[in-house]
Amino acid sequence: MKSYRKTLTFTTRRKMELIDITEEVEKAVEESGVKEGLCLVNSMHITSSVFINDHEPGLWEDFLRWLEELAPYDPERYKHNLTGEDNAHAHLKRQVMGREVVIAITNGRLDFGPWERVFYGEFDGQRPKRVLIKIIGE
Ligand code: ZN
Repeated sequence: MKSYRKTLTFTTRRKMELIDITEEVEKAVEESGVKEGLCLVNSMHITSSVFINDHEPGLWEDFLRWLEELAPYDPERYKHNLTGEDNAHAHLKRQVMGREVVIAITNGRLDFGPWERVFYGEFDGQRPKRVLIKIIGE
């Protein structure tokens, strides 16, 4: 069995940002040489997410607005911020959007359904944050 590990680092310009990382994940699959297997992609931080959805800018704005309604930034609102942080909202947003995705690899390619793309969701950015890609298979 082959095994391949790679990390990507993102330092977003804004505090919250959604980034399509599908091409980076495809590149890692190519580098791994795996033709049949599984590809795990996860955020290595507890205030950012990896998820699969549509490459459609209107939807990205919908996600960000919906997350802000669910867990507004409002530093006074959360017990976690009594630790001196102001990122409780980002922990909650990450929990809703998920930590990781697993994608099947078939014939050396990501075996997506129609319209599926991989995204990195940053909710407490403007500092370097890492995403882990782990690929196993033959
Ligand atoms: Zn925190």
